[in-house]
Amino acid sequence: MGWVAGKRVLSRMVLVGGLLVSGLTLAGELPSAEAIRAALTQAHERYQGLDEGANADYIPALAKVDSDIFGIVLVTVDGRVFSVGDVKSEVSIQSISKVFTMALVMEEKGVAALPDTMGVDATGQPFNSIHAIEQYRGAEMNPLVNAGAITATSMVQGRNADTVWKKILGFYNDFAGRKLTVQDDIYASEAATNQRNQAIAHLMHAYGHLQGDPVQATDIYTRQCSVGVNARDLAVMAASLANGGVNPVTGKAVMTAANVPEVLAVMATAGLYDDAGKWLYATGLPAKSGVGGGIIAVSPGKFGIAAISPPLDAAGNSVRGQKAIADISAALGGNPYEVVPYQR
Ligand code: GLN
Repeated sequence: MGWVAGKRVLSRMVLVGGLLVSGLTLAGELPSAEAIRAALTQAHERYQGLDEGANADYIPALAKVDSDIFGIVLVTVDGRVFSVGDVKSEVSIQSISKVFTMALVMEEKGVAALPDTMGVDATGQPFNSIHAIEQYRGAEMNPLVNAGAITATSMVQGRNADTVWKKILGFYNDFAGRKLTVQDDIYASEAATNQRNQAIAHLMHAYGHLQGDPVQATDIYTRQCSVGVNARDLAVMAASLANGGVNPVTGKAVMTAANVPEVLAVMATAGLYDDAGKWLYATGLPAKSGVGGGIIAVSPGKFGIAAISPPLDAAGNSVRGQKAIADISAALGGNPYEVVPYQR
């Protein structure tokens, strides 16, 4: 209803109590299955052959991941799943995990816990910037860059590392709607080469934001980044955010609805690192990328979408993934800032 060949019909009117009124602001308005399928197919065809970017290689195992994996999945808030391309291959979730650990900290400590520690401001600098930590003395940052993310991981409650880890993985499982597992080769590769993240954790400890053991926090963070996900998993996770914290496929309430706006706000300002502004300008969508090649985006109240394609641009964001999601969302009216003026 109201969606023709992926384009929103701006003049749509509905009859309410005998009066002809605009239907554009009615709640629960979702794109049709035909429009979604057409948008997914077109984007996949358009970008499949695009040969730009390169796999991350600062974590050696990421360089070996098949660069041709390209899958896109969209999940609507009413639980319909649409997919195109490779939706079976798993990549490591990497920085997309930061969204869900941030959400878990909000669940346990409330949304005020983040501004009070690492902050909720974009740094405008790369995700692993040490300069940003020094500039802001570990505050005025956010949980989606490594410094804030490792600090967030350290804030998850638990009597030992194993309890914390199980809680984090269980939380991700609820969002994905299935049991996820760690990609051991990725974990081993990053654990052997994560000296920079260890330094970041120690700096955050020195500034008093990271409480507890920085070595343990970095290790759990490295493990959370190594969780394997396919495009469907990521899309269901994104759709759970689009749907006010209820997984639309399993029906389970996975986080407090009242905390979702804060999660989306940080994704909007910092989800694509130093390119977050460009992305928001182009799409209006809260999103998060990972160096494994995954990217999720949320159209609140409508859908979650995810793409996997390992080659990254200079900021560390999937080249095909960004283009595909931007096109699909535009075709489906996903931009939450796009409104039609109130009809008097
Ligand atoms: N595990 C990666 C790191 O800490 C995650 C980075 C990312 O996906 N941007 O470097």
